Amino acid sequence: MRAYPPAHYYRFKGARRPANPLQEHVLHMSFSSLGLSAEILRAVSAQGYTTPTPIQQQAIPAILEGNDLMAGAQTGTGKTAAFALPLLHKLQSARERNGRKAPRVLVLTPTRELANQVAESFRTYGSHLPLSTVVVFGGVGINPQLKQLNRNVDILVATPGRLIDHMDRQSVDLSQVEAVVLDEADRMLDMGFIHAIKRIMAKLPAKRQGLLFSATFPDNIDKLARQFLNRPVSIEVAKRNTSSECVDQQAFLVDQGRKRELLTHLIGTNNWRQVLVFTRTKHGADRLVKQLLSDGIEAMAIHGNKSQGARERALGAFKQQSIQALIATDVAARGIDIDRLPHVVNYDLPSAAEDYVHRIGRTGRAGSSGQAVSLVGSDESDKWRAIERLIRKTVPAAIVSGFEPSACRSDKTDADNVTGIRKRSGKPADARSPRSNRPRGKAPARKGQSRRRAAG
Ligand code: AMP
Repeated sequence: MRAYPPAHYYRFKGARRPANPLQEHVLHMSFSSLGLSAEILRAVSAQGYTTPTPIQQQAIPAILEGNDLMAGAQTGTGKTAAFALPLLHKLQSARERNGRKAPRVLVLTPTRELANQVAESFRTYGSHLPLSTVVVFGGVGINPQLKQLNRNVDILVATPGRLIDHMDRQSVDLSQVEAVVLDEADRMLDMGFIHAIKRIMAKLPAKRQGLLFSATFPDNIDKLARQFLNRPVSIEVAKRNTSSECVDQQAFLVDQGRKRELLTHLIGTNNWRQVLVFTRTKHGADRLVKQLLSDGIEAMAIHGNKSQGARERALGAFKQQSIQALIATDVAARGIDIDRLPHVVNYDLPSAAEDYVHRIGRTGRAGSSGQAVSLVGSDESDKWRAIERLIRKTVPAAIVSGFEPSACRSDKTDADNVTGIRKRSGKPADARSPRSNRPRGKAPARKGQSRRRAAG
């Protein structure tokens, strides 16, 4: 895996390396050595965190010193605490507000889900501090937000579109913002928020601290950083273990038309209890939910056409494991953080190879292990090659017995061929009797079983 940010990032003019780059001894650093207040350390310890993650080890001192920051980090690296902890500390130590109620920290995120999660993190880490966090995003009524903004706000977390609405209504005062965080900046640009971001940044005081977090560093991110950051410190963290130790990756070659059956088969035979499934389109997500339900698998969808309430219900049900499968599109899944999510399935391969990394990064987080399975249709081989090029790794590909792609089946003229394919078959690691998960309809493995009998 290449380290993030990529090499060109360090050519970014004006970027500085941290004064104290990550050294071997720093790896064993404790939270208490970072200079955070006792109240914050108490909240961190209540979360069960013992050691700061690499991004936290580097970002926290840099932010406490007042530097602007440009950090290559994805969700799952502990990046939220990397900016939330030092910003809370700074707010705490300069709490005289002169009676002002306007926010002093502004965090912009690409999606509602991420906004909610970031706000929740500020509340958790700041639970022993008298600071208030308000979150605003679209898709829900604006009136409760107006009321909240009218009270004292220390930290405002917002999606760009809804924040612009509030600016237009003059319901938010950004003149007191001391620090702004652009979280998942690459995704915000992908989603077309650049104009909104520019309008928002224009309303902030010129003297402010700017922190930019991004998983990738295309040219437009460099440009954004040049425009809005002042001699940022650049933070280097090893890329999250998305495609190495923590995530076990596997591809299954299958005809597009049989992916649903194969998914049901995999969920059933492996007894997967919590699987996040990615489809390319919202319509595809809805259709898959219906099909899985008819197979006896409890599933819900989360995508941009769903109301905020429906998204939250689906996410809540999935987190509590009252449903087995959550079917998501890329944008909706952005920022979803589920503790110890064991399985991710790429039902459709993503159009952009980088989304593969984001997707499988939902699992194998914070040191836990996870499994990422990709169902690769014969018309998706180009996309699959692009993904393997990006992650610089060959993912083991197999064919599940009974789900041979038609291209392979047409070659098969005798039993040997069938056996040959079976040798390459994916053997799900903890295959057990599906029992309650057994699809109600036709058992999907039947075809393979009859082939085996023919072969034997
Ligand atoms: P994030 O990258 O901010 O989305 O965080 C990913 C996950 O890591 C979240 O579930 C956090 O609660 C968790 N986390 C953050 N910092 C630490 C830490 N120092 N030790 C253990 N877990 C952490």
